[in-house]
Amino acid sequence: MNKIKDIKAFSLLDSRGTPTLGVHLALSDGSKGFSIVPSGASTGKHEALELRDNDQHYYFGKSVNRAINNVNDTIFTAFFDKSFASQEQFDNALIQLDGTENKSNLGANALLGVSLAFARAVSSSKKLPLYRYIGGEQAKKLPTPMLNILNGGAHAKNNLDIQEFMIVPKGIEGFSEQIRASCEIYGALKQLLQKNSLSVSVGDEGGFAPNLKNETEALDLICQAIENAGYTTNQVKIALDIASSEWVAGEYYFLPKTKEKLTANDLINRYVSLCNLYPIISIEDGLGEDDFENWKTLTKELSKKIMLVGDDLFVTNKERLVKGIKENIGNSILIKLNQIGTLSETLNVINIAKNHGYKPIISHRSGESEDSFIADLTVATNSPYIKSGAPCRSERTAKYNRLLLIEKEL
Ligand code: PGA
Ligand code: ZN
Repeated sequence: MNKIKDIKAFSLLDSRGTPTLGVHLALSDGSKGFSIVPSGASTGKHEALELRDNDQHYYFGKSVNRAINNVNDTIFTAFFDKSFASQEQFDNALIQLDGTENKSNLGANALLGVSLAFARAVSSSKKLPLYRYIGGEQAKKLPTPMLNILNGGAHAKNNLDIQEFMIVPKGIEGFSEQIRASCEIYGALKQLLQKNSLSVSVGDEGGFAPNLKNETEALDLICQAIENAGYTTNQVKIALDIASSEWVAGEYYFLPKTKEKLTANDLINRYVSLCNLYPIISIEDGLGEDDFENWKTLTKELSKKIMLVGDDLFVTNKERLVKGIKENIGNSILIKLNQIGTLSETLNVINIAKNHGYKPIISHRSGESEDSFIADLTVATNSPYIKSGAPCRSERTAKYNRLLLIEKEL
């Protein structure tokens, strides 16, 4: 059996120019794997810990040298010359070595980089595409993309409180045609914004970030762009990521840009009316990450009609998802590898979700890289959706490009 011969982490950059880990891992047969770890901005409180150095004079405190040292010293020393029968065995050894509930000892960023590099090295050793190594023979479904084409919230310095306005070309057949439609709509939206003398500069996930009157103006512009590009709202739907955990202020929700102070019920009523007016099929993090009681009401109101997605709510965490399933909260889950810290735990959460009728949406982070691991993960798990930002900025298109290539292979 293959042994671990080398593990080495480097300080690289994510798409915001913030340091992140790149991890290289080599096996005794010469196979190699490499991965780059993503990073969030509107991070959930219950995510596994992303270890940063917090030295304010160095990369604004964001350097990851401690996590790098943990890979190069602790993890390398423990794993050198060892062999592992499966990804699960490898990831369990990482989890044990860390020894904490939230990976705060070695850092979830250190663990994830190593976990993904191992997956890549083994898939290369087995001469299998990554999606085939992870998912086996039954991995064959291309997802529908959810493209964030208008940005607000913590991802843009404009006046929109909702973080993401996404298009979902669900009614169009085939991944490459879905991408084509999305790019044409993205282009049509750009023309429309320019015609209205609005900014076409983009936010962290590649969506435009103009100042608009309110969310209905954003939704009207998107519907108009869909039509201008020659599509209908039967073919192309809308999804929102409210990212409302960012708004929680005690019992209330305080929207930092419009300065509105709302109750959970006010928000639920607003979502119900938006869903009556627009072709919305999904709302993510409509309420805060710890607001389980009001999430139950939201679920009663809207779960028959649309996807209610838990991102900060579930943080790709088995315990939190199981609690949600038991209490009838939400009906879909956002999946982010770095929220939990290893590939095996992520796969386990996807399985639990599917077994209980919760739709998994595989997601990028707002801080990304050229690593397209999540594209393969989506196909490996036959997940129905991938969220990877606008068709703009290479760290976003890397994932769509990888899927376009996989589509040709399948
Ligand atoms: P984040 O945002 O990567 O900044 O957390 C993405 C999301 O909320 O879905
Ligand atoms: Zn989110």
